Amino acid sequence: MLPPESLLSDFLILDQSIHGQRLVYLDNAATTQKPMPVLLASRHYYEAINSNIHRGTHQLARAATEAFENARKTVAEHLHAASGDEVIFTSGTTASINLVAGILALSGRIGPGDEVLVSTLEHHSNIVPWQMLCQRTGATLKVIPCHDNGTLDQQAFHSLLGGRVKILALTWISNAFGTVNPVAEMTRAAKAAGALVLIDAAQAIAHLPTDVQAIGADFLAFSGHKIYAPTGIGVLWGRAELLAELPPWQGGGEMIKEVTFEHTTYNDLPFKYEAGTPNIEGAIALAAALDYVNAIGLDAIHAHETALIRSAAEALGGIPSVRLYGPADRSGSLSFSIEGHHHYDIGTLLDHMGVAVRTGHHCCQPLMARFGITGTVRASFALYNTPQDVAALVTATAKAVAMLG
Ligand code: PMP
Repeated sequence: MLPPESLLSDFLILDQSIHGQRLVYLDNAATTQKPMPVLLASRHYYEAINSNIHRGTHQLARAATEAFENARKTVAEHLHAASGDEVIFTSGTTASINLVAGILALSGRIGPGDEVLVSTLEHHSNIVPWQMLCQRTGATLKVIPCHDNGTLDQQAFHSLLGGRVKILALTWISNAFGTVNPVAEMTRAAKAAGALVLIDAAQAIAHLPTDVQAIGADFLAFSGHKIYAPTGIGVLWGRAELLAELPPWQGGGEMIKEVTFEHTTYNDLPFKYEAGTPNIEGAIALAAALDYVNAIGLDAIHAHETALIRSAAEALGGIPSVRLYGPADRSGSLSFSIEGHHHYDIGTLLDHMGVAVRTGHHCCQPLMARFGITGTVRASFALYNTPQDVAALVTATAKAVAMLG
C-alpha cells in the first residue's frame, strides 16, 4: 500500500484551503496535479537548455535535442514499444486520435460499406474524429452497446465483428464510469476479424502499467496531463511498419527529407508525423512524470487507488438516494447521481466544502443518453489521494443531500 502522505509534499498545489476548507482534489480524470520533479524539469529546460531541436549545431540545441530524444526513449520504455520510432509526440489524446483518423481517411484503406467500431463508453474525442472519417470515406459508424452495469456487451461486440469492420477504436478505461475494458482480449478478436485497433489510454495511462506489445493493438493514444505531466503534450504510439506505410498528416518543417517546388519526400519515423516545432519542454516534463510514477510503481498506485475507490463506493452507496454508475471493479473514476437533484447543484455544494469533483456529461453524451441522464457527479482518484479525502467526499455528499432535502 502506498503511503500518499509521504508524497503530498511533492504536490504544493494541494496544500491550500478552498472556501476555508482543506482542498480535496478529486478531479484527476480531468487533469492531474504536477509533482515537484516535473515542475523542476520544465523549469530546468527553460533555465538551462531552451533551444529549438534537431537542426542546431550549437551546444544548447544539442542539449535540447538530446533531452527531447531521451524523453522519447523514456516513453517507449514505459509503453514497452519496440522502438522510439513508434512514439510520436502530439499535443494530447485528441490530437493523436485525429491524426490516426485523418491518415486512415487519406490512405484509401477505408471506403463505402466499411465500418468503424467504437463503444458506448467513448469520450467525444474517440467518437467525433471517426464520424468525420466516415463522412469523408462513406464508411459507417457502429457502436458496441453496454450493459446496465456500465460494462460492454461482449456478445454484441463479437457479432458486430462479423461485418466489414476496418478499425476498432476503444477506450481502455472509461473516464465517466471507470469501467476497465478487456482491451487485450477485444484487440485479439478484432485483429482476427481483420480490423485495425486503436486504444484510447487517456485514463488508463495513470492507473495501469501499459504494454503495447501485450495488448497487441496498432495504435495507442494518451495525454501527458492525465499522468502528472503538463498540458499540451501527448503521445501517439503506432506500429512502425503500419505508420511507415500510411500517408503523412500535417506538412511542414521536420517531416520532410527534401523539398522542391515540384516535389517533397518525407522523413522517416517518428519525424514524418511531427511537423513543426514540438512541445520540447512538455516532452521532457512528461519523461520526468513517467520516471516519477515508475519510481513509485503503477501496481502500487493502482492498488492504492482501488482501495480508495472501493471504500468511497461503499460509503456513498450507503447514502439513501445516491445512485452509483459503473461496475464494482471500476478504476480511476466513480460516478454517481442523487435522486431528485441536479448534478451541478451537488458539485457546487461539494466545492463549498472544499471537495473538487466534476459534474456533467464528462464528454460522453451518448453514454449519458444510454442511461437516460444528462450527467453525473464524478470523483476521480490519483496517487496522492488519501482515506481522509474519501471521508471528506462522503461527509460532504451526505451534507449536500441533507441540505437539498
Ligand atoms: N479520452 C478519454 C477517455 C479521456 O478521458 C480524455 C480526457 N478527458 C480524452 C480522451 C481527451 O484527452 P485530451 O483532452 O487530453 O486530448
